[in-house]
Amino acid sequence: MSDVECIDGRTKLIGLIATPIGHSVSPAMHNIAFRKLNLNYAYMAFEVGHEQLEDVVTGMRALNLRGFNVSMPNKTKIIPLLDELSPVAQLVGAVNTVVNENGKLIGHITDGTGYMCGLIEAGVDFVGKKMTLMGAGGAATAIAIQAAMDGVAEISIFNSDDQFFPQAVKNAAIINEQIKNINCKANIYRMEDSERLQEEIASSDILTNGTCIGMKPLENESLIPDASWLRPELIVSDLIYTPRKTKLLEQAESVGCRTVNGLGMVLWQGAKAFELWTGKEMPVEYIKEQIF
Ligand code: NAP
Repeated sequence: MSDVECIDGRTKLIGLIATPIGHSVSPAMHNIAFRKLNLNYAYMAFEVGHEQLEDVVTGMRALNLRGFNVSMPNKTKIIPLLDELSPVAQLVGAVNTVVNENGKLIGHITDGTGYMCGLIEAGVDFVGKKMTLMGAGGAATAIAIQAAMDGVAEISIFNSDDQFFPQAVKNAAIINEQIKNINCKANIYRMEDSERLQEEIASSDILTNGTCIGMKPLENESLIPDASWLRPELIVSDLIYTPRKTKLLEQAESVGCRTVNGLGMVLWQGAKAFELWTGKEMPVEYIKEQIF
């Protein structure tokens, strides 16, 4: 039996603010980890959209919460309400984890590092390798920046000539011009250029789907028209984890590629946030057994 058996007068609260919220695995993940390590914390999800965001952050300051996670649609909107950003959150322009350091709210982004840790856990060696990354939304932006910082040598970013294309251009510019002391080249292409997409995949070591294609209601779709675009040496990864095996990952398996789904990313982005709040490592193997 653990010493911390229930919420008491010393329990530190961590929140999650997002909408919709009911599907999130984060409350279970963090509360199980707190109990396992006998830490006197509790994690609660709050349904919060743009309209209530400012009041909620003021309230969290007033209640002196240890921190909170931020998910859609608040990841960028929250930035002006915080006191400081980590260098990576500044580059990505988004925050998924806030830490209250003695009244100062500091924004971090653990999505990109969570994805890279998921690759490491799957035994993928990405240093000096080439990645084709489909998408330039919130998650793909965090991955592009972190991959460049963690040693990926070349990233070909594809996005449709649509809402997120300017973000794709911005991500490539940040990698090529702004981040110091890295050795990474970013290319930017339109997803509509399928000849180019096929060529870039053919010369890549890793293919990553950072779009919502493959997730409900698009679970029968893939951005790759044909499995013949893939080859067994290619590592194919998808940020989606519901379903566990997207159409893209099925195509990849059919030609013998190693595949990585989005479960590692969700687990490790949580583990990194957990560490920022508690200073302890999340017991990830235990969490996997309990939840995934
Ligand atoms: P987002 O910011 O809305 O970005 C969506 C991306 O998908 C954009 O690049 C968008 O580009 C693209 N897209 C949308 N419709 C498309 C279409 N019909 N054809 C081609 N591209 C399309 O969303 P997000 O938060 O980055 O999430 C993206 C995916 O990552 C989702 O599937 C989400 O579940 C997953 N995710 C996983 C984790 C994890 O921990 N595993 C974490 C976050 C997100 P255009 O609209 O410009 O075409």
